[in-house]
Amino acid sequence: MKNFLPILFLSLLILCGCDRNSNVNLFSPDQDVQLGAQINEEILSKHNEYPVLNPSQYPESYEYLNGIVNNILESGQVNYRDEFAWQVYIINDDNTLNAFATPGGYIYVYTGLIKYLDREDDLAGVLGHEIAHADLRHSTRQLQKMYGLNLLLSLAVGEGSGLEQIMGQVVGNLTALSFSREYEREADSRSVDYLSGTDYECDAAKSFFIKLSEMEEQGQVPTFLSTHPNPDRRIQSIEARSQEVGCSTEPLDPQSYQAFKQSLP
Ligand SMILES: [Zn+2]
Repeated sequence: MKNFLPILFLSLLILCGCDRNSNVNLFSPDQDVQLGAQINEEILSKHNEYPVLNPSQYPESYEYLNGIVNNILESGQVNYRDEFAWQVYIINDDNTLNAFATPGGYIYVYTGLIKYLDREDDLAGVLGHEIAHADLRHSTRQLQKMYGLNLLLSLAVGEGSGLEQIMGQVVGNLTALSFSREYEREADSRSVDYLSGTDYECDAAKSFFIKLSEMEEQGQVPTFLSTHPNPDRRIQSIEARSQEVGCSTEPLDPQSYQAFKQSLP
């Protein structure tokens, strides 16, 4: 029976037209979580590369950050609100203006980014963008594009040492994965949708790009821009999405953001 499975899957592939550009994701949401958990373990074990702040040593910082994440999760707009892990970590590196997400809802934010931003709304906008990468399952969709048919076949033969091999290979470099422009646009637009269900300024994701764009004009190119190019176009499309949704662009801006910054090392 096993030998028929790849053929069956190939026929399904042709029938449903699940080609490289398709939105069909062959990974299950559970596999996103599994993959994310594996990557998280690896990140936490590499303290030199990823100096993650220990939540038990920085309870106030984590409480504040989790508060923002929860506001977004409670927006009613997150697809995998209940299925994904939704764990957020702070990486202690003031020189890195970056945040990233891995599959299954693991989010990492650098102290450099938190300190660079001015308001809670701004950070919520960026977190919304990262949560969207996980929630829209961009990593596994991207893996599928990269591995294509091989992945399909190893899923088809099941018990997949093939799949495990692929997963093993990608765990190490998934954090460095850069997304296509299409995925970046999707994540920006989804950040607006999420924030429209909160008290935050719904197009707050643009503030970060406004600041970055000013830096770029001064000849400095922060890390985030190497994986997230064209800040000006993105500012416009975030604004366009907020007009489409008709959501509030009134900032919440609680004064506690400064205290949050000061709670960090
Ligand atoms: Zn992104």
